[in-house]
Amino acid sequence: MPPGDNNPDRSTSLLTRLVERIQRDGPMPLDAYMLACAADREHGYWNRPQTLGAGGDFITSPEISQVFGELIGLWSAVVWQQLGSPESFRLVELGPGRGTLMRDALRAARIMPGFLDAASVHLVEVSDRLRQTQRETVGNVPRIAWHADVAEVPDGPAIFLANEFLDALPIHQLVCDNDGAWRERVVALDARDGLKFAAGEPVAFNSVRAAGPGAIAELRPGEDALLATLADRASPLVALFIDYGPAGPAMGDTLQAVQRHRYVDPLAEPGRADLTAHVLFADLAAKAKAAGLAAAGPITQAEFLGRLGVAERAARLMAANPKRAGEIEAGVQRLMAPGGMGQLFKVLAVHSRALPPPPPFS
Ligand code: SAH
Repeated sequence: MPPGDNNPDRSTSLLTRLVERIQRDGPMPLDAYMLACAADREHGYWNRPQTLGAGGDFITSPEISQVFGELIGLWSAVVWQQLGSPESFRLVELGPGRGTLMRDALRAARIMPGFLDAASVHLVEVSDRLRQTQRETVGNVPRIAWHADVAEVPDGPAIFLANEFLDALPIHQLVCDNDGAWRERVVALDARDGLKFAAGEPVAFNSVRAAGPGAIAELRPGEDALLATLADRASPLVALFIDYGPAGPAMGDTLQAVQRHRYVDPLAEPGRADLTAHVLFADLAAKAKAAGLAAAGPITQAEFLGRLGVAERAARLMAANPKRAGEIEAGVQRLMAPGGMGQLFKVLAVHSRALPPPPPFS
């Protein structure tokens, strides 16, 4: 469906509420729209019964292949050693989805003596429904806790993992008008009380990149808040951000809505599609440094997994499970695909300045 052509028959109760809100309060900035779609207690996307996974709207790396979470588990074990093998540390995952990555990571990391005994697992998750799924998937871990916000994770040495977490955090879009002034991009009402995008109030913004009329800049304040929280922690930390988006400087509209593995109009059915936008890794690394942390990367997912030994890991798994060999190989190929996830996804490590860059960035 082309953007703007919203069929009223497909209206949702959240749509009705958003229309009323815009009638009452005026057009909403995009981040407010994304927040309402994601987190509305009644109609928000993350409390829908089927979101991620083959049977849901979209699929992620840990859901494609167990090798993904296993390699991250082994990576975490090496990083723990680099932290000085502390007797107690936090293994934190932001937006753990179905808990698959953490389950696979903990299973693989068993081979590192002392790692599991030292770990307490912290899952930062907004969705009650996904928390329940995570509880079932991750299973019997001696020390595990859930938090609504990363600021609630207690101090202590920590390893943070985030796969496709940042892309779901709301963004602002700023549009450059004909006079070169920047305006907030908002969700407004069209003549038939459907939702449409419009240019809203002027905002103060100094683009570091050349931009002409119609250019769009995307800002994600949730990243700044997250990095400030990490920078505030007293103990050393290493954080791994894996997401889709460009490695270098970029501009443009990257908002996308996905439903049942297809792209849909982001305004058509609020709360019923996964709304995400590119993670701008160059900006993320710069923000981490400005917050007082160090950043290593980004590198592509294919480089990251390749350097961690994905080929050897897959070969061993295939030898041990000959009946599943085809499926294992296909999964790994998908994660590594040069024109697909292997290249589109990037990996950035953010760490305390006192620490060296973690492998495989070192
Ligand atoms: N990491 C998982 C899931 C990615 S989907 C995977 O790779 O499969 C995004 C996840 O982030 C979901 O678990 C969603 O509920 C969670 N999430 C989205 N916004 C959040 C927020 N503001 N705070 C905490 N969790 C959030």
